[in-house]
Amino acid sequence: MIQTSQDIKYLQGVGPARAQTLDKELAIHTVGDLLVYYPYKYIDRTRIYHISDIDGNMPYVQLQGRILSADTTGEGRSRRLVARFSDGTGVIELVWFQGIKYALKDYNINREYLVFGKPTIYGGRINIPHPEIEDVSSGRFDPNTASTFMPSYNTTERMKRSGLNSAAMARLTRRMFELFDQPFAETLTPYLTQHYHLIPYDTAIRNIHFPTSAELLRRAQVRLKFEELFYVQLNILRYVRDRIRRYRGLVMPHIGNTFNTFYHQHLPFQLTGAQKRVVREIREDMRSGRQMNRLLQGDVGSGKTLVALLSSLIAIDNGFQACIMAPTEILAEQHLQTLRNLLNNMPVKVELLTGSIKGKRRQTILTDLEAGDINILVGTHAIIEDNVVFARMGLAIIDEQHRFGVAQRAKMWQKNETPPHVLVMTATPIPRTLAMTLYGDLDVSVIDELPPGRKPIATVHMFDSHRANIYNKVLHEMQQGHQVYIVYPLIKESEKSDMKNLEEGYTQVCRQFPKYKVGKVHGQMKPAEKDAEMQRFAAGETQILVATTVIEVGVNVPNASVMVIENAERFGLSQLHQLRGRVGRGADQSYCILVTNYQIGNDTRRRLQIMVDSTDGFEIAEQDLKLRGPGDLEGTQQSGMAIYLKIANIATDGQILNLAREAAQFIIDHDPDENDPHNTILWRRLKELRKTNINWGAIS
Ligand code: ADP
Ligand code: MG
Repeated sequence: MIQTSQDIKYLQGVGPARAQTLDKELAIHTVGDLLVYYPYKYIDRTRIYHISDIDGNMPYVQLQGRILSADTTGEGRSRRLVARFSDGTGVIELVWFQGIKYALKDYNINREYLVFGKPTIYGGRINIPHPEIEDVSSGRFDPNTASTFMPSYNTTERMKRSGLNSAAMARLTRRMFELFDQPFAETLTPYLTQHYHLIPYDTAIRNIHFPTSAELLRRAQVRLKFEELFYVQLNILRYVRDRIRRYRGLVMPHIGNTFNTFYHQHLPFQLTGAQKRVVREIREDMRSGRQMNRLLQGDVGSGKTLVALLSSLIAIDNGFQACIMAPTEILAEQHLQTLRNLLNNMPVKVELLTGSIKGKRRQTILTDLEAGDINILVGTHAIIEDNVVFARMGLAIIDEQHRFGVAQRAKMWQKNETPPHVLVMTATPIPRTLAMTLYGDLDVSVIDELPPGRKPIATVHMFDSHRANIYNKVLHEMQQGHQVYIVYPLIKESEKSDMKNLEEGYTQVCRQFPKYKVGKVHGQMKPAEKDAEMQRFAAGETQILVATTVIEVGVNVPNASVMVIENAERFGLSQLHQLRGRVGRGADQSYCILVTNYQIGNDTRRRLQIMVDSTDGFEIAEQDLKLRGPGDLEGTQQSGMAIYLKIANIATDGQILNLAREAAQFIIDHDPDENDPHNTILWRRLKELRKTNINWGAIS
């Protein structure tokens, strides 16, 4: 019997070199890590297709036959290896673009092979690119070890180069199981497995790799997904329990002069019903005696800033200070302006603190803050630095922060003896399942109504070959006195070519519109320059702003009516939605033009169509989650959750998530002190998981 903690190096067939590859590529160090490296799909190997039945639309197929001939064609980058493969019913081409040398070496003409792969059509012919190939005589149909479904494991190029393709990973995994002659210990309590009809851990972990039937595979998946989500939720809810126990909330019972004066004399418009409801929810929290930890979701332009201000005024009326934290300096400055404008000449002191405020100015702010002379401090991350001391911090508002995990939120709490109330605001609508995992410790408020009179932004998808039409629209809007954003992607990995695109775009636009002034902002500019450029646009001195996504969040220029997004296929839907939200802030009809070249895939077309069809951020987020899976969603990557979840899929496992949450809540409610012997196994397991999952701090 071996231990799961055993170094993977010593598993037969691994050795030091492959161990290093596994470590580098998949962070697999131990046998236990391999155990939870689950297949991403399974191939029904009872089914062998005939080549004569294959068409280009089939998913994965398995063929059995012989290679008739193999030739390399093309030069340089277009070099490839084409093998003609026949099973007697027909001939199909197997194609390699990479690893040609290895393929030539590894496979022989006329030997019998099993071939797995996805048929595609190229040049009018069906072929299978980069197939997986197994020797029929390699014994893989040994009835003692064969399972009906062959697992496929994700592997990287580097792994393949050291011989660790999917089939090799399966072999290692099987060898590992052979060494575990005892059943694997249960990881949930019997009453949970019974109540939720879950199969034992041992059965699940074996069948997830080598399913003996479709039914057992399904049940193994359910069991392991449940377990994974259960421990995530137990971790979150345990944390909520501790927070409630440890911290009283600041009690803010009064609605006083400041709030009332503002509400009755300064409010420039009627609050929407949703704004009113949310302010009520926040107010209830603030006077409840429990610390508020609330997530406020509201689509772009739904008026969250006003809610932030009203909440701050409640804190002020109760003798406390508030702070509002924004992700960028530009946004922080804009908040400062907005708040000062709204407050007009009311005696509420709002100040700004960002990284670029230094020296004497900074010192004055810090002193005033500590003396309690500043009522609302607006700023960036600079606010959470240790030397920023409040006299009586009562409310911390965090705007547009996906990365703001519990660890950072906790830092906010230390700004006062009793932690302040915390309000997290986001305009990237998060599907409920995702929120439950990412922000599972927060109560949620939603502004599901836009201020009246907003016209939905008209969105179109255009090919860059129709640039003349795009520019006509731009010109037409500018002739009406409006302004235009033109946004280019800027991604770290392709920074150089992206910058080039942006520069070329800028030059082209300048040439196209000689009578108009064109500004340019991107992340590599100094903050001061960037700001100055933004200010020029906001003041109407420039009519066109060519930019990267630095303008994504929060920037408010109501006179801008067109948003052109170049290479729109490279943005996530939520990001596109955010960008689009920069226009449509005034009374006039606004437009969003998504530009791509003609050669885009069907997936991209579908994604862009969602943008064209819907202006509802929640719907877009749901669709995005479904199309891309949670791994690609903004927010999940930064939080590390994508790395953490090994089997559950937030997009599709909502039902299991609900059950897991319910189970975790039950445990916390019935065993709050963690001393029921039935649950020992759970708390111990949670502790182990917390040790191994460095990312848990970020998600819980
Ligand atoms: P977001 O939720 O995206 O942060 P903002 O707070 O920036 O939205 O508000 C967007 C715009 O809507 C601002 O110009 C703001 O003044 C305006 N606004 C907010 N609430 C209302 C309301 N109840 N009626 C009319 N306009 C409103
Ligand atoms: Mg905002």
